[in-house]
Amino acid sequence: MSTRRIFLQKAGLSTLALSLPFANSLSAMNTDKEDKVLRVAIMGLGSYGTRVAEAMKDCKRAKLVGVVSGTPSKVETWKQKYGIPDKNCYNYETFDQIKDNPDIDVVYMTTPNSLHKPHCLSIAAAGKHVISEKPMALNAAEGREMVASCKKAGVHLLVGYRMHFEAKTLEVVRQQRAGEFGKTLFFQGLSGFIIGDPTQWRLDPALAGGGAMMDIGVYSINGARYMLGEEPTWITAQEVKTDPVKFKEGVDETITFQMGFPSGAVASCLSTYSLNNLDKFYLNGTKGFAEMQPSTGYGPIKAWTNKGPIEAEHITHQTTQMDEMAAIILDGKKPLIPVDGEEGLKDLVIVDAIYAAAKSGEKIKLG
Ligand code: NAD
Repeated sequence: MSTRRIFLQKAGLSTLALSLPFANSLSAMNTDKEDKVLRVAIMGLGSYGTRVAEAMKDCKRAKLVGVVSGTPSKVETWKQKYGIPDKNCYNYETFDQIKDNPDIDVVYMTTPNSLHKPHCLSIAAAGKHVISEKPMALNAAEGREMVASCKKAGVHLLVGYRMHFEAKTLEVVRQQRAGEFGKTLFFQGLSGFIIGDPTQWRLDPALAGGGAMMDIGVYSINGARYMLGEEPTWITAQEVKTDPVKFKEGVDETITFQMGFPSGAVASCLSTYSLNNLDKFYLNGTKGFAEMQPSTGYGPIKAWTNKGPIEAEHITHQTTQMDEMAAIILDGKKPLIPVDGEEGLKDLVIVDAIYAAAKSGEKIKLG
């Protein structure tokens, strides 16, 4: 039983609370639901999987209980480090048996992009909820298949959009929705870093499904949508390649793209693997502006508006994300900015359009 519930009961407030203006928030707390913990298995024990595992140590509602990996030595290390029992360890051959394991609720895929769709279908078929890293899939067709298979299986499909739970981001979004910047007519998103090792999977089109756009450009796409609170109706894009050896056919090095929105707002964005110090969002309206830099890195995020800086405590993004995802899956909580498969699919539709626009030079209409 939670301490908050104990407090309410001791104070004899459970019934009284229901007639108070804040009854909804109190009654939402006054439940056994918040005692439940989401039991998570991580699939793909690489660099991001490790980050998520470390962040989950501080979670109140999510716990790492299992792993899926093709590397036995990593499984051994993770078993020791996180106290994972043998019975919750799988490789890609034994993975289907997870359906008979009642101690795992969700599988979090932190594998290369092209593996998200096939593994999502297997996880859903095993009756487990799915969390996919971004990008959710290689294209919208794959994304639709994932959404449909999870719907059919009656399981959640969530995407690791950690910024959707970040405090300063949420405050900028709140101010935008409240009209504090007036009519927001311009968004700029700059997303990039200089990529190293040319042999890594991020530069292999079969595993990555593209280049910088799939990895980092998706932050500007997603950011434009949540900062403006609208869906784009047209897209134009231009691709530039300075190193065709490192960035082979099918791997984009640099793409600039523009999006138009129903309100008349426009977004101008850059996605690149060839420049550092590009992690910036800028939103301008008729009455004010918001700027975030860094805007999507691991933080602390810095944000300010025409009225001054936005202050909020930095909490490891993946810790908040996993606690919030536990509330979504276990309690049916609706986040302010969605993180479900439909949300992931919206970004993939835009990725497809950006690639098509860059290739043809045409303006692509959406919706
Ligand atoms: P990584 O290379 O460090 O880890 C990938 C893991 O997948 C490795 O453990 C690897 O062994 C395993 N794997 C399984 N099958 C594989 C195969 N066929 N080929 C290659 N590796 C295979 O990569 P990462 O940086 O952890 O990225 C994993 C996913 O997480 C990607 O989708 C990436 O876009 C995403 N990511 C998200 C964030 C974020 O902030 N949300 C940050 C980094 C990465």
